[in-house]
Amino acid sequence: MRYLSTRGHADRKRFCEILLEGLAPDGGLYLPEHYPAVDAATLASWRGLPYHELAFEILSLYIDDIPAADLRAICARTYTPEVFGTPQIAPLKPLEEGLFLLGLSNGPTLAFKDMAMQLLGNLFEYELGRRGEELNILGATSGDTGSAAEYAMRGKQGVRVFMTSPHGRMSPFQQAQMFSLQDANIHNLAIRGVFDDCQDIVKAVSNDLAFKRQYRIGTVNSINWARLVAQVVYYFAGYFQATRANDEKVSFAVPSGNFGNICAGHVARQMGLPIDRLVLATNENDVLDEFFRTGVYRVRVGVDTHETSSPSMDISKASNFERFVFDLLGRDAARTRALFDDELARQGRFDLDGDPAFARAATQFGFVSGKSTHADRLATIRDTWQRLGVMVDTHTADGLKVARQHLRAGVPMIVLETALPVKFAATIVEALGREPERPAKFEGLELLPKRVTVLPADAGEVKSYIAAHCA
Ligand SMILES: *Cc1c(COP(=O)(O)O)cnc(C)c1O
Repeated sequence: MRYLSTRGHADRKRFCEILLEGLAPDGGLYLPEHYPAVDAATLASWRGLPYHELAFEILSLYIDDIPAADLRAICARTYTPEVFGTPQIAPLKPLEEGLFLLGLSNGPTLAFKDMAMQLLGNLFEYELGRRGEELNILGATSGDTGSAAEYAMRGKQGVRVFMTSPHGRMSPFQQAQMFSLQDANIHNLAIRGVFDDCQDIVKAVSNDLAFKRQYRIGTVNSINWARLVAQVVYYFAGYFQATRANDEKVSFAVPSGNFGNICAGHVARQMGLPIDRLVLATNENDVLDEFFRTGVYRVRVGVDTHETSSPSMDISKASNFERFVFDLLGRDAARTRALFDDELARQGRFDLDGDPAFARAATQFGFVSGKSTHADRLATIRDTWQRLGVMVDTHTADGLKVARQHLRAGVPMIVLETALPVKFAATIVEALGREPERPAKFEGLELLPKRVTVLPADAGEVKSYIAAHCA
């Protein structure tokens, strides 16, 4: 399998070459040259496989530069009941007639990002070991991504993590999760500023090419293809649990921000998984809902980006969206480049309304969408708890609300559970008047000793810190 850029760069790369990279050299995103088709016999043979073996089967269609025995071992040590809490890894919970939750949040940080990040940690360690190289991961987080990255990379050979976060602005639970890690290769940098300051620092450091090369700076953001392909696996796992035979279809509802999670669903559908519809749910930050309703993709500026009670979906633009648009345009790289590199850069928007390609988003690719507000979240959390006895987090509530608007008789609807309620306790208390359930291993988390360095919002200070801790 070779990988190309959505903007038409001539290079064709192999999996391990793009594993440690971010964007393609032309600013595009990497995608496989084609999506491997999974025929009926193969699909039937995968039904009933344990999760780690299913992961191996799917990943080996995309990764041909890691020996099969090694990849199999990596999958086996990633997807264990010890790390993910259950033997199914991604267990399906029936909610009510025709409606299910797919549990993706039982990993170390209680959000779905662990599903991919845990694999990434093991792939990074493997590949860096093979090359005899080191990598210093620099990131910015307002919560879920940073903690998922730290728990994936802790104790890994050849990897250090420098994670910036806005000082005092994450929830107490999220701060405690990250800052209680005592591993020598994990560095928490609390920046006196807001999340945008953290992102600006990461950009400034990465744009200093000499520094970047000298200190081997890398990232783990959601445009990484390895993260995306790891997420394809649970669409298959969810499908097998919700159906008895492969002539049945299901739909998936996905709480969306950067379009990473649902893009994996798109890939699974392109491979031939019998998915009826992909239901995209946003919160008040409805860039993507607007696109799927109107054909207009209009990125927001800072002041138009709302701080909501499903904060991991608070995005101004969706960093993975270009992958889908490339497919929507029949893989026309020149047009993709014109839209993203030119129109979007110049006007902050592009418009596919009236373009025959746009109609295909629904008819050929199965996408529908909807949005949810704070009041909707509260109502959904309350209803699901009182009527069904199930407590959902704010992001999952966005997915559930929009899922209900797109139910079809005879087609099971699987809502992806992207976090557990304990991560967003304040809104749970607002909705239910009680604290969320807390998994036993997180009792007393906030009381553990914290390991964090507070720094001013200054890229130079962060560089000095990295230089001093890379010896
Ligand atoms: C990251 C995240 C999302 C959004 O996922 P995307 O891949 O960015 O669309 C939704 N919910 C939770 C809890 C998350 O952490």
